[in-house]
Amino acid sequence: MTQRHAVIIGGGIGGLCAAIGLRKAGLRVTVLERAREFTDIGAGITLWPNALRGLDALGLGGRIAPLLMPQAAGKLRDHTGRWLTRWDADRVERAFGRPLLAIHRAQLLDLLRDALPADTVHPGVEVTDVDRAGTVRWNGGEVGADLVVGADGIHSTVRTVCWPDHPGAAYCGSTGFRAVVDLPDRRELSGVIGKGVEIGLVPLTGERLYWYIAERAPRGTRHDDRRAHLLRLFAAWPEPIPELIERTPEHAIMQHDLLALDSPLPSYVAGRVALLGDAAHAMPPFLGQGGCQAIEDAVVLAASLAQPDVGAGLREYDRRRRPRSQAIARQSARAGRMGSQLANPIAVAVRNAAIRLLPPAMTARAAVKPAQWSAPTIGTG
Ligand SMILES: Cc1cc2nc3c(=O)[nH]c(=O)nc-3n(C[C@H](O)[C@H](O)[C@H](O)COP(=O)(O)OP(=O)(O)OC[C@H]3O[C@@H](n4cnc5c(N)ncnc54)[C@H](O)[C@@H]3O)c2cc1C
Repeated sequence: MTQRHAVIIGGGIGGLCAAIGLRKAGLRVTVLERAREFTDIGAGITLWPNALRGLDALGLGGRIAPLLMPQAAGKLRDHTGRWLTRWDADRVERAFGRPLLAIHRAQLLDLLRDALPADTVHPGVEVTDVDRAGTVRWNGGEVGADLVVGADGIHSTVRTVCWPDHPGAAYCGSTGFRAVVDLPDRRELSGVIGKGVEIGLVPLTGERLYWYIAERAPRGTRHDDRRAHLLRLFAAWPEPIPELIERTPEHAIMQHDLLALDSPLPSYVAGRVALLGDAAHAMPPFLGQGGCQAIEDAVVLAASLAQPDVGAGLREYDRRRRPRSQAIARQSARAGRMGSQLANPIAVAVRNAAIRLLPPAMTARAAVKPAQWSAPTIGTG
């Protein structure tokens, strides 16, 4: 059999994992990435046990281990500082054999690129068109492939071209702020939740802390001085929140409106084209599973493509990935609506009382359940 060629559009977490997996399955791989340079500032990302199993299946488990920061516990307070729940991160490890971990996104992307031969990823190539027969076009070039993977993120060109009736990404009602600061001696994941707003603190290796905020706001809300806005918003919140914002430089704070695909796609496959990651099922970040699902997609795609018939492999990929990833996207949206997006004071009081009364294992269940996933074996490796 002649070696099959896969062209992957997008060199983010999903595209790079797909490249690694498809090479492992015996395909020749080309990754086309719009960005000219890899200067990711990024922030942190949590990796649940399902993602770690996926990274193991890609053969990356050993290499990534030193970069991962285990989260010692999960604690949640309300905006007055009252404890709502504390869930034992050991429970995650006991249940899944792996802890909840976090990594700096730029380190993860560097590691994934380093796992590929130097001529695999082509930066500065913005794909403008694809067709179901496997032709990929960009300004000044085109290439034919046995398999085209649209891993081009939430505003996917591949999705727009192949699924023209899909409405695309919608605003989920909250805007997100993120930053990484130097902060030694922190090992616990913790969060504080208020009316329409939450902040999460996630320790990273290198004595750094990643924080993220989701704040209900009209789409497109921007502030001349993000730090000043956050200092005002959190002025009366318990420590260390005000201090943390205080010590975060304005230039380190990123803001993005949180978007998701509200309308689930009827298929992740069209002819020789497959979608994965945010292009297929972008979800709000309330469960920290978007990137984990992109890793799962990549592993399952590679395992499905180990069979010689591309069409059959893609049908298997769609069958195995669409129900699970779309269910997790729905759970993620629900977690936001029932969690930090609640702004009505009575609803917030009921939510907080329920969290306090329920056993921690039950409150953690929504977050922990998606971690139940076993990775298939890819090819002969
Ligand atoms: C605030 C926030 C917090 C999050 N936290 C977590 C978390 O803790 N854990 C987790 O698992 N997930 C998290 N996520 C989700 C996660 O970031 C995404 O699900 C993940 O990055 C998706 O990866 P991807 O490769 O599919 O897409 P992307 O990361 O968007 O990559 C797409 C790539 O395609 C390129 N591209 C786009 N268009 C083209 C084109 N036409 N031609 C060529 N290249 C193109 C882009 O430049 C980019 O490099 C979070 C998301 C947000 C917004």
